[in-house]
Amino acid sequence: MMRAALALARRSLGRTWPNPAVGCVIAKDGHIIARGRTQDGGRPHAEVDALNRAGEAAHGATVYVTLEPCSHFGKSPPCADALVRAGVARVVSAMEDPNPSVNGQGHARLRDAGIAVEVGEGAREAGETCRGSAPIRRSVSCSIQKPASRRRRSSPGRRGRCRYGSCARVPRR
Ligand SMILES: [Zn+2]
Repeated sequence: MMRAALALARRSLGRTWPNPAVGCVIAKDGHIIARGRTQDGGRPHAEVDALNRAGEAAHGATVYVTLEPCSHFGKSPPCADALVRAGVARVVSAMEDPNPSVNGQGHARLRDAGIAVEVGEGAREAGETCRGSAPIRRSVSCSIQKPASRRRRSSPGRRGRCRYGSCARVPRR
């Protein structure tokens, strides 16, 4: 299921500026009932896109998402609230959102509402989906953060976190 969500995120790569490319799959009884991805231009977010497609069926379902659902009011209301309202039972999220205005609060909000939350499945691949596309990676820097040094050139596949505060400056191709 997370694989399907990651595939959706990859499909959105480079098209969701200024937001990261996120994929979301809603499943029930082992079947995918809705898929969503962050739409071109960054809105709606993947979770809301998928919830819109799932409708009532989202109640009691499991949501797989490649990035922590947002918890803050940006240009749209928080996805964490939308998931709570939809009555989903469980959220499996690949990684915490490094954006300082989310940073764990989305997961916390879901847990507070009684939703089971699991974090970490597909984290490495999810990190890659918010890193920017290869040809511009050198200038971008959705650099991989290393504890001691921050080298721009890092081997592909290293576990890292995307800082899309700086991804936001990626020029559109
Ligand atoms: Zn969101």
